[in-house]
Amino acid sequence: MEFDLIELIRRHTAQARDDVRVGIGDDAAVLAVPPGKELAVAIDTLVEGVHFPLGTAPANLGWKALAVNLSDLAAMGASPAWALLALTLPGADAAFVEGFAEGFAQLARPHRLALVGGDTTRGPLTISVAAHGFVPPGQALTRAGARVGDAVLVTGTLGDAAAGLHAVQQLPREDDGRAGLRGFLIERLNRPTPRLATGIALRGQATACVDVSDGLLADLGHICTASGVAAEIEAAWLPRSSALLELYDETTALHFALSGGDDYELCFTVPASRVAELQAGLARLGCGATKIGRIVEGEGVRVRAADGAWLATDRPGWEHFA
Ligand code: ADP
Ligand code: MG
Repeated sequence: MEFDLIELIRRHTAQARDDVRVGIGDDAAVLAVPPGKELAVAIDTLVEGVHFPLGTAPANLGWKALAVNLSDLAAMGASPAWALLALTLPGADAAFVEGFAEGFAQLARPHRLALVGGDTTRGPLTISVAAHGFVPPGQALTRAGARVGDAVLVTGTLGDAAAGLHAVQQLPREDDGRAGLRGFLIERLNRPTPRLATGIALRGQATACVDVSDGLLADLGHICTASGVAAEIEAAWLPRSSALLELYDETTALHFALSGGDDYELCFTVPASRVAELQAGLARLGCGATKIGRIVEGEGVRVRAADGAWLATDRPGWEHFA
């Protein structure tokens, strides 16, 4: 499409890396994988109205389109290096592209990630980013490998992004003094923080790892399926932000934390004997992790409520098993 738009993207995302032999501007990028490293690659697509609400600021989209892919690399224990960007736009909107590229660059820059190519086409607003990262041979974290007796941990807090989506979909309201709390949750939705340092620190420590993009129950369920085990979660242990707990009642906050998507925290398993030491190390890295349950024999994810009863998480309303 328009050369000017590609040039705009190139300029805003410029990032020098020695391993980019040929970047934006030729028919393909030429990249040098460091000797002795394995390449981890991931791609995710965001479609307007499906993965983000209409009216989302372009800079937030640029950030998030990259963040969701960096979160996948984090879940594998990979360190990011390069990305490709396929942008489908309804029109040649330079202001949109500039905002988008700036948001993308705000996340790419601190991670020294280079945008090395892509594609620009006309159509309904759709954004695909492919991210590439490195991992030492055999050290990638996978969803398989959780063992009976392992502890289940999660970084950060859960449910904020789902609550943020709920907040942006509300009608504008009178100032009730809680705009700051809603703003925090909306920021968590729009600007997720991929837990890259955590993922790298979990190499050789976690037995399995996944990023929480579709909700804890779904994503921990993937670990259970891949590992051939079950998980028991304690609802009372789930880390939740004070903003979530102040704005929503307990049932809703629990629902967001268990089933809400878009948090991009890491959920992982470690041998129970290693939990305390690992938690101390992760806290020093700047993002703590909370123990939320354990791996047991069987299949699927069960959640125990604060009163000790199992929650029927597959039914609407979260009633207890009768
Ligand atoms: P070709 O027709 O050979 O595929 P294009 O005209 O589509 O080339 O792209 C020209 C150059 O600009 C290529 O290097 C391509 O990787 C890059 N490019 C195109 N769109 C984007 C984009 N959205 N982001 C980054 N690079 C892009
Ligand atoms: Mg070509």
